Amino acid sequence: MAGKRNTSQRRAIRQVFEQTDRPLSTQEVLDQAQQFKPGMGIATVYRTLKILIDEGWLKTVLLPGVPPRYEIADRDAHHHFYCNTCGRAFEVPCCQALLDTIVPEGFTVATHDLVLYGTCIECVGQENSGGELAVRQGVPVNAEN
Ligand SMILES: [Zn+2]
Ligand SMILES: [Zn+2]
Repeated sequence: MAGKRNTSQRRAIRQVFEQTDRPLSTQEVLDQAQQFKPGMGIATVYRTLKILIDEGWLKTVLLPGVPPRYEIADRDAHHHFYCNTCGRAFEVPCCQALLDTIVPEGFTVATHDLVLYGTCIECVGQENSGGELAVRQGVPVNAEN
C-alpha cells in the first residue's frame, strides 16, 4: 500500500532529524535516511520535506549562497555556522548576551540574524594534518550575498 510506504519513509526522515543536532541539506537527509530505508530516492525526500514543512514540523534554514538546509522547527533560538570546506551547517547558541553589549543605548532590537562562516573542527584537523599552516577564520569564501 502506497499510504503505508509513505508513512514509514516519513518516519525514517523524521528519525534522521531527531538524531542530529545540525541543519541538513536534502542530500544529507537522503544519505542518512537510506540507513533506515535502503532504496529511498531523492524525490521522496523532497516530497516528504515539503509535507513536514507544511505541517510546521520542519523549517527551512536559508544560508546565503548555498542550498537550503532544514531543521526541526521548535528548537530554541540559535544561529548557524557554515563550514566552507565540507559544506556542513552547524548550530551555535544565540548571541543575545553579546547583542546587549553592542546595541546603542535606548535602541530596541526587534529581530536579528547571524551566520558564521569558517572551518569546522574536523576540517581544521585535516588541514593541519595536510601540513598547511594557514587556517581560515570566519571569513566568507566566495560569499555570494
Ligand atoms: Zn567542515
Ligand atoms: Zn542571537
